[in-house]
Amino acid sequence: MTGQVTSGPPVDLRSDTVTAPTPAMREAMARAEVGDDVYGEDPTVRRLEERVAALFGHEAALFCPTGSMANVLAVRTVVGVGEELLCEASAHVARAELGAHAAYTGLTMRTWSAPGGRVDLPAIDALFAPDLGPYFVPTRAIAVENTHNFAGGAVVDLAELQALRAYADARGVRVHLDGARIWNAHVATGVPLDAYGAVADVAAVCLSKGLGAPVGSLVVGSADAVAETRVWRKRMGGGMRQVGVLAAAGLHALDHHVERLADDHAHARVLAEAWGTDPGEVATNIVVREVPDAPRYVARLRAAGVLASAVGARTVRLVTHLDVDRAAVDRAAAVLAALPLDPDPRPEAVEVRPEDVTPATE
Ligand SMILES: *Cc1c(COP(=O)(O)O)cnc(C)c1O
Repeated sequence: MTGQVTSGPPVDLRSDTVTAPTPAMREAMARAEVGDDVYGEDPTVRRLEERVAALFGHEAALFCPTGSMANVLAVRTVVGVGEELLCEASAHVARAELGAHAAYTGLTMRTWSAPGGRVDLPAIDALFAPDLGPYFVPTRAIAVENTHNFAGGAVVDLAELQALRAYADARGVRVHLDGARIWNAHVATGVPLDAYGAVADVAAVCLSKGLGAPVGSLVVGSADAVAETRVWRKRMGGGMRQVGVLAAAGLHALDHHVERLADDHAHARVLAEAWGTDPGEVATNIVVREVPDAPRYVARLRAAGVLASAVGARTVRLVTHLDVDRAAVDRAAAVLAALPLDPDPRPEAVEVRPEDVTPATE
C-alpha cells in the first residue's frame, strides 16, 4: 500500500511562497499606521525600509511588490543599456524573470555553470570583459544568489562571496546579491546579515518566501542607488499608496519569523531522510530528488496528499515553510517513504494534470 495522508488537508510543499499570513500578522497589518508612500508619507513603510537597510549595513532600502521587481530595479543601478551582467546559469535573474532585465534595462547576460550556484572565480574571470570602447559589450556587474533556488537551497560560502567582492573591486565592477532567501542562509550558517550585505553593492531580499509575509521585497543599497530605484519603481507602475498594511506584515515577519527558519531546515532534513536522500546535503529548506518521471511522480504524490513541484523532467522539489508543522512533515515523510519512485506502469493509474507538468519554481 502506498502511503496516504490519512487526515487533514494536503501537505503543500510546492514552495515557501504558499504561506498565509498568521492571525498575529493579520492583526499587525490591521493596526498599521499608513500614509501615501508615493509622497513618502507612509511611516510603516519607512520603518521597514530603514530597518532592512540597517540589517544589511546599507544606507537605504526600497519596498517593492515582488522580488523580481526588486532584482530588476537593483541590477539596473549597476548595469546600463547594452552592458553586461554575469551570473550563474541557473540564477533566478537569468531563468525565472521572463527576460525582464533585457526587456526593461536592455542589458545582456552571460553565465557560468557551477554546482550549488557557487562563485567560480576562474570561470567568472574567463567571462569578464573589460570596457574596450565601442566594440565589445563591457561587464559591469556580477550577480550571486544566496540561497540558490534551483541549486536546491544551497548556501553560498561567505569566503567565496568575499573573494568575489575583492575580485569585483580589482576589476572595477559591482556585485548584486539576489537574497530572496538570504534569511535562510543567515539562520543556517550564523553569518550575520550585514556580513552578506558587505559583499554586495546592491541586493534584493524577499519577505514573501520563508518569512511568510503575503507580499513584499526590498532593494538595499546606497542612498543614491535607492533614490534611483524609487524613480524607476514609479516609472514601472510600482508606486504604491497606503502600503503600510503590507510593510507591517514584513516588520512582523522580521520580529517573529526569522529564527524559526531553523525549524524549516530541520523539517527539510526529515523529508530528505524519508526520501532516501542524504539529509547532510540539505542546506536549508529545499530538498530535491531525481526520479524517473517527475510530473508523474508529482501527480502520484498529489493523489497521496502531498503537493510537490516538478522542476525538471526528472527533478522533484519539496520546500518546507511556516504553514507546514512537524505533524504535517511527519505525514508527508510517511508518504515519501512508502511511495515507490518508479512510475506506475498503468497509464490510467493516475491522471497527470497540467499543473504537475508546468513547474511552480519560485
Ligand atoms: C522567488 C525568488 C525571487 C523573486 O520572486 P517573486 O516571485 O518575483 O517575488 C527572486 N530570486 C529568487 C532566487 C527567488 O527564489
